[in-house]
Amino acid sequence: MGFVAVIGAGESGVGAAILAKEKGWKVWVSDYGRIKDRYQQDLLKYEIPFEEEGHNEKKILEADLVIKSPGVSPKTKIIKAIREKGIPVVSEIEFGYRYTDAKIIGITGSNGKTTTTLLTYHLLKAAGLNVGLGGNIGDSFAKSVALKRHDYYVLEISSFQLEDIQDFRCDIAMLLNITPDHLDRYDYDVMEYARTKLRITNIQAEDDLFIFNGLDPICKEMIKDETFQQRMMPVLEPIIHDTSLHLGGNTAFDLMNFKLKGRHNIMNLSFALLAALDLGIDSEALQNAIPTFENAPHRMEVVSELKGVTYINDSKATNVDAVFYALNAMEDPTLWIVGGVDKGNDYEPLMDLIKSKVKVIICLGIDNRKLYVAFEHLGIPMYDVKDIDKAVAIAQEMATEEDIVLLSPACASFDLFDNYEHRGDLFRSAVKALA
Ligand code: ADP
Repeated sequence: MGFVAVIGAGESGVGAAILAKEKGWKVWVSDYGRIKDRYQQDLLKYEIPFEEEGHNEKKILEADLVIKSPGVSPKTKIIKAIREKGIPVVSEIEFGYRYTDAKIIGITGSNGKTTTTLLTYHLLKAAGLNVGLGGNIGDSFAKSVALKRHDYYVLEISSFQLEDIQDFRCDIAMLLNITPDHLDRYDYDVMEYARTKLRITNIQAEDDLFIFNGLDPICKEMIKDETFQQRMMPVLEPIIHDTSLHLGGNTAFDLMNFKLKGRHNIMNLSFALLAALDLGIDSEALQNAIPTFENAPHRMEVVSELKGVTYINDSKATNVDAVFYALNAMEDPTLWIVGGVDKGNDYEPLMDLIKSKVKVIICLGIDNRKLYVAFEHLGIPMYDVKDIDKAVAIAQEMATEEDIVLLSPACASFDLFDNYEHRGDLFRSAVKALA
């Protein structure tokens, strides 16, 4: 075994370092910024040497293999130097994959990854499979491979993770949708971003399965230009009769007690069900598992119902497409809290929904000018706030019975908050504090 350098010491990097150490590699972890305390503790616990706030280039360039954390851009100086020297660079999922023979269900897309990963994991677990969960949720895949033994893994995989894979292969790959996001990383080229996502199908063999969004124009466009040898399964417009979701053949599931709202979540569930059925799980077990699924917080999370007004925390909606589905799912007049750090948003696709569903727009951000330019002409009352308590207070004041207050920001949170969780948590506390 040789010497491995791990660049970036977050969940992925530290997980990969633990696995490398377990497998007998000599390991060095290097982070350009500060390493969070809990990760430092992990590194100390496993006796893995590390540096922070800078890279020791000389040492790193002695490595036989580099594991790059997904958050580290391929354009950074250190990664360029590593590549110039010809040292192989892999991602954490590639590295983890080399040490497991579990079946892999990999999920990527612009929106819905976490929800669909959790849904798929829930269905497989409820059916009694020995299944692990990883990727961007909870423990990293590599850490889980180091410390546990599973027959199946359900992995949430970002396009960043897919940049550096070689032998990583999904038994079942899912591509949920592709909408412009993170374009700064891909030279503002949507098709380049899309091609990275399609790497989820990397080296799939004939028996493997690729489930993709057959309605999404970018997915369709890309798929038509490629040849595939694996089995292909498109997810199309959900067919619903009464409360039953029909998935083709005689397979139908009752969604009466499915807790997630919106058509997008029915698409997400369709992906998860199709994967589970393909693994041979019987439909009765799946039907029994549907009502017991609880989503992760900050995704269309109903916080409370107070004096007839429903408050929904969708803080994870950091792009326009996620907001599109959120507004689409609103069945009552909506007071919409929007704003933050704009990632080059085009709000045009939302206009019809806003006109038909939104009664008040509360702009929550340090700089709300772009929102005013986009929406002022609609004639809907708008408020300019820089404080989430104030946003919630205005919403409460303006709402009448049967209205919905929806935090679905379409923007990143870093102007006023640490991250989307922080924003969602403060929203929840502000709502809970209302009399
Ligand atoms: P991701 O992990 O891809 O960011 P999440 O499941 O965390 O996805 O959901 C992120 C946001 O996108 C939430 O606001 C959620 O309501 C919305 N969303 C979930 N599924 C979809 C989908 N299939 N299409 C569009 N938006 C979705």
